[in-house]
Amino acid sequence: MICPFCSAEFLKGMKRCPVCNEKLVSDVLPVWKFVLLSAVTFGIYQFYWFYKCWAFVKAERKLTFSAFWRAWLAPLYAGVYANQLKIMLALKGIKGGFNPFAVGAAYLFLSAAWWLPSPWQVIGFLNFFPLIPLVKALNEYHQLDEKIPPNNSFAWWQWIFIFLGACLTLLTVVANFL
Ligand SMILES: [Zn+2]
Repeated sequence: MICPFCSAEFLKGMKRCPVCNEKLVSDVLPVWKFVLLSAVTFGIYQFYWFYKCWAFVKAERKLTFSAFWRAWLAPLYAGVYANQLKIMLALKGIKGGFNPFAVGAAYLFLSAAWWLPSPWQVIGFLNFFPLIPLVKALNEYHQLDEKIPPNNSFAWWQWIFIFLGACLTLLTVVANFL
């Protein structure tokens, strides 16, 4: 494949051009993708998202902890992550427009709604909303370091999974009110 910035050749799957060192794959996550995937995967995507976020913090700040466990215990660690992100943003001069404590508390309470009796349980489906400012802020952070446009589409097979997930989610929500 050909680098769009310096026209050097690179192998498929490379994250950076070996010649000019420009990023070849964008790390920016469009907010609509985050919302859609969070809404239809019953928390599975959220786990993956938190795992990736923690792995990134770990690598950027050279810390030692288990990204897996922090993702697994996301309701307890969301505020801690928001705080770490805020520190990373400040180092690059970005003002993250969120309050880490408020994000952590909102995520914890909305996630805890899963244990409420139905139909209140459905509130748990909205637990990803307080994370949206974090997605936006992390995108700003990534964009400092990349010229490539973000991937703003899904492959057809991803749409199939999203459609199936959306049907299941809708059924679950409706069942909560029956
Ligand atoms: Zn290049």
